[in-house]
Amino acid sequence: MIEENNYDLLIIGSGPAGLGAAVYAVRAGLKTAVLDKSPVSGGQVLNTYDVDNYLGLPGMSGGDLSEKFREHADKLGTVFLTADVQKIENADNKKIVHTSEGDFESKAVILATGAAHSVLGVPGEAKFSGMGVSYCATCDGAFFRKRTVAVVGGGDVAVEDAIFLAAICEKVYLIHRRDTLRAADILQKKLMSLDNVQVLWDSEVKEICGGDLVEAVEVYHKKSGEQSTLAVNGVFIAVGIVPSTDTFKGLVEMDEKGYIVADESCATSQSGIFAAGDIRKKPMRQIITAVADGANAVNSVQNFLML
Ligand code: NAP
Repeated sequence: MIEENNYDLLIIGSGPAGLGAAVYAVRAGLKTAVLDKSPVSGGQVLNTYDVDNYLGLPGMSGGDLSEKFREHADKLGTVFLTADVQKIENADNKKIVHTSEGDFESKAVILATGAAHSVLGVPGEAKFSGMGVSYCATCDGAFFRKRTVAVVGGGDVAVEDAIFLAAICEKVYLIHRRDTLRAADILQKKLMSLDNVQVLWDSEVKEICGGDLVEAVEVYHKKSGEQSTLAVNGVFIAVGIVPSTDTFKGLVEMDEKGYIVADESCATSQSGIFAAGDIRKKPMRQIITAVADGANAVNSVQNFLML
């Protein structure tokens, strides 16, 4: 049991939602701690090389933006604890948060554990993970300098990754299962302006092949029904995200995909427990909406504590 274990508010997760909540909570005078299994704050933003849509800070790298968020929370005196949350229990008028580092008690909890990348689920993906298959272009792109890579997906992350990799790699294939991209228009325009990027439309990766390392992908063209082998040295998979909510199953109501059901107040089905950021069921998952959730969740916590 950690000695200092009694809080008004525990925030689980230190991505934009958790850090946004921390700034509002500390300024509101709530005795607050942020728990994260990683000592490095930022969550998914850390994997973004260029965040161009966060208001007032255009063109900032995800790493730099995360640092700014963390500095802001640190400057206000936020308590950060590195601990893996294993279970949250309801007890009378408090919540008990069981972690790898001991138990903590709090009057209210904000869940802000964000989301992680989805897997494609094709043969070869698991086998070559770390051996040519990657889920993070900014982390692993440098290993593919002047090589040929494929990016799979058609959302913001896939297109951002393809743009990032095009500056490093000889050739980038973007393999997308439909004939239109989901990514923001500005990203699509940038992508289409790059000479060394080729988009393979209506195409699905059926298998990732190689010896010790990735050598090729088997690509199925849905309209023609043809399958072809594409020689590549690396495959970057960016096919969406899954919420990091396994620990909270049975605690709060979730939808069929595992997102926590909560409206803009961030109040969950469990009194005193709030959900902020990408883990919440909502139509738009952006850094700015995650930060906004953090502020809304703290407002709801304050109302809850006044009851
Ligand atoms: P996403 O927007 O859900 O896009 C996932 C892409 O992968 C879609 O194009 C989807 O195809 C494709 N896909 C899904 N399952 C697939 C499968 N089994 N096989 C082949 N393709 C598959 O996910 P994301 O790009 O990871 O972005 C996640 C969230 O973060 C989004 O809400 C995004 O807007 C947000 N984001 C925000 C920022 C920012 O704030 N600056 C930056 C990056 C991302 P379909 O199009 O056919 O469904």
